[in-house]
Amino acid sequence: MFIVAVLVTGGAGYIGSHTVAELIEKNEEVIVVDNLEKGHREAIISNKLNGDSNVGNVNLLVGDLRDKDFLKEAFSKNDIEAVIHFAAYIEVGESVANPLKYYNNNVISTLNLLTAMKDAGVNKIVFSSTAATYGEPENIPILETDKTFPTNPYGETKLAVEKALRWADNAYGIKHVILRYFNASGAHVSGCIGEDHSPETHLIPLVIQTALGKRESIKIFGNDYNTPDGTCVRDYIHVSDLANAHYLALQSLRRGEESKIYNLGNGKGFSVKEVIDVVRKVTGRPIKAENAPRRPGDPAILVASSEKIRKELNWKPQMADLETIVSTAWEWHKNHPNGYSDK
Ligand code: UDP
Repeated sequence: MFIVAVLVTGGAGYIGSHTVAELIEKNEEVIVVDNLEKGHREAIISNKLNGDSNVGNVNLLVGDLRDKDFLKEAFSKNDIEAVIHFAAYIEVGESVANPLKYYNNNVISTLNLLTAMKDAGVNKIVFSSTAATYGEPENIPILETDKTFPTNPYGETKLAVEKALRWADNAYGIKHVILRYFNASGAHVSGCIGEDHSPETHLIPLVIQTALGKRESIKIFGNDYNTPDGTCVRDYIHVSDLANAHYLALQSLRRGEESKIYNLGNGKGFSVKEVIDVVRKVTGRPIKAENAPRRPGDPAILVASSEKIRKELNWKPQMADLETIVSTAWEWHKNHPNGYSDK
């Protein structure tokens, strides 16, 4: 007998694995599709190991969304009720250097996925999008209705998918919730799963690696922005609060609600210097910081308004405080200084 399941692409990645944890805690059956190019098999096994019999199950299918036969089989051999789609390349700098790689993976894969959904009669998708769809913001905090004008190919590929989703809804009735994340950070409170990117490009893990002595210093990319201390301001959101938003989005699709777009952030901005100070405080370690040139494509300030998802889906972040976010990240990195290869 088929078991009805939620298919999670990229479920072995950072935000994907935390969402899988959230889903199985909610007693969902989950099928992860991941090519393991960036994801970690251990990020799935760790979820399974939480030892509670009242949680759902997760199964991993290793394969690539560019492989149409693999996708067809995944949808024909399982009873997929809905899809949560994370699988994508995410490095802004790399996307500028190699845009076609990003269009190929992020856009073509999603078109294959939508085609497989249409053919199998699956009509619900939660899509992992990004603040990078906005580009240079016109207002702070940013509203979902603000203009979208990405400043890099990564943001363009996510926006291209958002548009494809709108037309797929119009033509085939595939309903979507698009979640535009601001700065995902932190790690699961169990300590079992966390952030492990290679190469790491994100601020909080890099500052923590400096605290651990794995890097000599943290480079501050630009100190002459039009912000209170001259460094870029971002809205950091705990990865488990993000994960919970995916569950709420799934539930809204199950209730038959219309397709929606929601921002996800805490609505509070922290500068690069403030983040470094919080990591110093949480870790109690000295962290050498040095000024470096601006990183191309970085807007000065990105802060979300998440009022819409709070109001419509009753989303309430549980770990909104930056010190709490950094503490969970610190626990993970301290115990896994080499990421999942320390298992
Ligand atoms: N940043 C930095 N040094 C680093 C990495 C990042 O100063 O080594 C800055 C970056 O310019 C941005 C902020 O930290 O203003 C957050 O960057 P991250 O790559 O974590 O996320 P993004 O905002 O690009 O999604």
